[in-house]
Formats: sequence, structure tokens, C-alpha cells
Amino acid sequence: MEWAFECRKVFPRLDKLAIEAIYAKTPKNVLGRTKGIVQVCQGFDARELLLTGAKKNRSNKKLEEKFIIEISQEIQKMQPKEMRKLVVQHILAHELLHIENRDLLTLSKKYNKRKVKKVHKKEFEEEMHKRYNELRKMKGLPEIKNAKDAQNAVSKIVAETCGAIKGKGGFA
Ligand SMILES: [Zn+2]
Repeated sequence: MEWAFECRKVFPRLDKLAIEAIYAKTPKNVLGRTKGIVQVCQGFDARELLLTGAKKNRSNKKLEEKFIIEISQEIQKMQPKEMRKLVVQHILAHELLHIENRDLLTLSKKYNKRKVKKVHKKEFEEEMHKRYNELRKMKGLPEIKNAKDAQNAVSKIVAETCGAIKGKGGFA
């Protein structure tokens, strides 16, 4: 999703990560969610084998991370497109901050599950809003002073245009 690339500019710490953003069927009342996938690379070094003929066993297991941000497919219906983009990027900023904060990863058997700790604290909302405003500034849009106002506006627009999702509390 092209809109995610724009949004990632205000999350420079995530530059090297593989992050994909897609529209998908999400649970009711969930506008966006993020899945983490870890691939453990082990066994022999295939490149080394082709280059040198030597089979070298990898001592270290290498973890490859990938994140998939799912945006509720209900939002895809939203018109006009420019309004949808503002809403989607608000959701993306929220999910990207979770990734930056490592809220989704434990790199253990509980992988893929959100950490038990509460993640939606006031600081989270404030930081997320800061990034959203940075993104708006980058696009030449005026800032929104209050984080709650922005959140409520998104919820309201979603509730009005996507009947299936009731706006409030829709973020995962
Ligand atoms: Zn969240």
C-alpha cells in the first residue's frame, strides 16, 4: 500500500523492517491490527555452498521478521479517496508505533500475541498523535492540536461511512 510508504517517513527507526499493509477482513470493531511473523533460518549456508562448494552449517539461527498491518476492508469503501487516505494513515500511524515500541514481539513462544502489558497508555496516544501531525505537516496539512479530537474524528467518519464498524474503540 502506497499510503504506508508515506506514513513510514515519520517512523525512520523502522526503515530496515519488512512491513506490508493490506486491506483485510478484521474482527468486528477492529479498524487495524498488526501481525508479526518470524522465520527462523537455519541449516547450512546455501550461498556459501554454491560459491565455494563447502557446506558450512550455520551456528546462529537467524530470525527474520516481517510485519503485516491489516486495515479493515470495510474502510476500502470509504469515499472520497482523499478522506480515506487521512483515515487509513491515522490507523497506520497507530500500528507503526506498536511496531516501533515492540508491543507485538516477544521473540518467544508467545510470538504473534500482543504483550500482556497495557499498550494503549496516554503516552502512546500522544506519541502517535505527534507522528500523525508530522505526517500531516509533511503533506502540507494543518496540525490537529488535540489527540482525542483526531481519534474521535476518525471514529466518527468510520462509523458514518462504514456501517459495519461502530467507530468507538475500534483500534487494536
Ligand atoms: Zn493499538
